[in-house]
Amino acid sequence: MKLFDSHCHLNDPKFKKDLEEVIERAKDNSVAHVIVVGYDLKSSRKAIELAHQYEDFIRAAVAIHPHDAKTVTEESLTELKELAKDPFVVAIGETGLDYYKNYSPKEDQIRVFIEHIKIANEIGKPVILHIRDAFEDAFKNLEGHPVKEKGVFHCFSGGPDEAQRAVEIGFYVSFSGTITFNSKKLEEAALKTPDEKILIETDAPYLTPVPKRGRRNEPAYVYFVAKKIAEIKGKPIEEIASTTFRNALDLFKIKKWS
Ligand SMILES: [Zn+2]
Ligand SMILES: [Zn+2]
Repeated sequence: MKLFDSHCHLNDPKFKKDLEEVIERAKDNSVAHVIVVGYDLKSSRKAIELAHQYEDFIRAAVAIHPHDAKTVTEESLTELKELAKDPFVVAIGETGLDYYKNYSPKEDQIRVFIEHIKIANEIGKPVILHIRDAFEDAFKNLEGHPVKEKGVFHCFSGGPDEAQRAVEIGFYVSFSGTITFNSKKLEEAALKTPDEKILIETDAPYLTPVPKRGRRNEPAYVYFVAKKIAEIKGKPIEEIASTTFRNALDLFKIKKWS
């Protein structure tokens, strides 16, 4: 069995001390590949550095998180676009809208979200979306500014209707450890999403799945996300693993690893 953790933050300082061991444990637990996702310029640079260092295991995504939208300037967008051109960068993300935390004003979040879509379209890469309590505005802006290479709703937090809308516009839906938290809404969303449109992720170091709650999350635990989706769908975990693995290769256009 091969698992693909489509979203983690091995660029987070929480992994500084034991990154080698974390990667070894992931490999020991059938995780063949991961995407390391940036959330500001520094972490985006770090994601690229890790992808070059662990060429057989990591690819990168670069972006400035909606939380920090209010800090984004013309200069930071120019640098982001330069970073995005690196051949090991497979997506622009995480970008999107977070009205739950609302760390940046909505107008800034929308402006920066659209700027990220423009970069994705200019360089021909998909987007990784972080959307919280903002599905209406997200769909509205994706309609007004379609992403050519599509993308994924990461750490999906909507219900079956939002999952269906995501699939209708050609996007993937990625489930994280939150799918193991006994949420009817998320389970219905997973049931509504066709297997060919599902990705799995840890979002490590955050959102540790059951039964590992209480510790730092890491890519090795993506197994528990796959297992839960297999249970919900009434299918063998091997089937969910191989479908979501193929989906990740397709979305991120990774040929070398297939
Ligand atoms: Zn996120
Ligand atoms: Zn994340």
